[in-house]
Amino acid sequence: MSSNVIAIDGPAASGKSSAAKGLAKRLGVLYINTGSLYRAVAWKARKNNIAFQDETAITEMLDKTEVIYAIPENGGNPDIRIDGTFPGEALRAPEIAAGASAVAALPPVRAWALGIQRAAAEKTMVVMEGRDIGTAVFPDAKYKFFLTASPLVRAKRRLAQEGEALDGATVESVAAEIAERDKRDSERAVAPLRQAEDAVFVDSSEMTLDQVLDLLEKYISKQKEVTMTYRVPYADTDKMGVVYYANYLVYFEMCRSELLRSLGYTYSQMEEDGFAMPVLEAVCRYKASAHFEDLLTISATVTEIKGVRMQISCTVKCGDRLLAEGYTWHACVSMKNGRPVALLEKLLQLCK
Ligand code: C5P
Repeated sequence: MSSNVIAIDGPAASGKSSAAKGLAKRLGVLYINTGSLYRAVAWKARKNNIAFQDETAITEMLDKTEVIYAIPENGGNPDIRIDGTFPGEALRAPEIAAGASAVAALPPVRAWALGIQRAAAEKTMVVMEGRDIGTAVFPDAKYKFFLTASPLVRAKRRLAQEGEALDGATVESVAAEIAERDKRDSERAVAPLRQAEDAVFVDSSEMTLDQVLDLLEKYISKQKEVTMTYRVPYADTDKMGVVYYANYLVYFEMCRSELLRSLGYTYSQMEEDGFAMPVLEAVCRYKASAHFEDLLTISATVTEIKGVRMQISCTVKCGDRLLAEGYTWHACVSMKNGRPVALLEKLLQLCK
């Protein structure tokens, strides 16, 4: 799994850039805007008088183009550097935005862009915003959000951004331009704009930026590790005087329950509501032994969510010494009929 990426996807002018930039700042990590990549392609195509739909000419152009995310001289977040220069604000013009959505529909452009985006998150934690980050670029991103707002709110926000709307534009004309772009982005064959199954949906129409950031941060911190301590009783040890190996799975379970409790929802409440999370797989690697009266620190964290399945990873330590580590995979099922239930959605709904 990719622990380096917090993915924020959503339609045009949904507030993704402000949210992604703000979240990166709060978390002290880098911010990457992937729309700039497609805008840079449109920008260069325009300079070379290449039509945005001309797949052959654009592919040839990309063969001779050097694009990377680089930190500008005055510092800050990585920005697009194309053939050695940072086009910066020139990429924000409305005709470049329209061109970006046209070139972004070309399969060779998307294949080319994939490597550049992945390289940008190779070495460090990033908040990456776009249309397909959680679905195609980093389907294994640690956190995924899908941010949107009503068409009217989005048009007003875009109009308020200097240099991003044509002179004389109205809310109606901007709304129409955004709708056209969204349609093209959602209907293209490769990596269309859509919410990842395991992304958290946020409608920011009636929220301030700070409220959006609080929500994203709260969600991320909810997924933080839960830690508990436990003093080994005599009953947990075996004839060799060490904690019997099977007990570690019980310790994992104890900490999993604490993890759920920290989400504001206990396992018994879940059962009362008719759901269960049976174990599908359990793995434990043993590194060192624990003894009677040792004080153990047990930690659990959600490390992966795939459809209705969830992986919880655990460690057991004594002081700084790692004794055991492992994970369990669970499915969320209905106790009524044993059928799988969309786990993340359910948990988030319940956490509210
Ligand atoms: O986010 P921004 O408005 O800068 O994106 C410009 C265009 O780039 C979008 O309309 C979309 O067509 C394309 N894009 C994309 N995939 C991304 C980011 C942007 O297709 N990950």
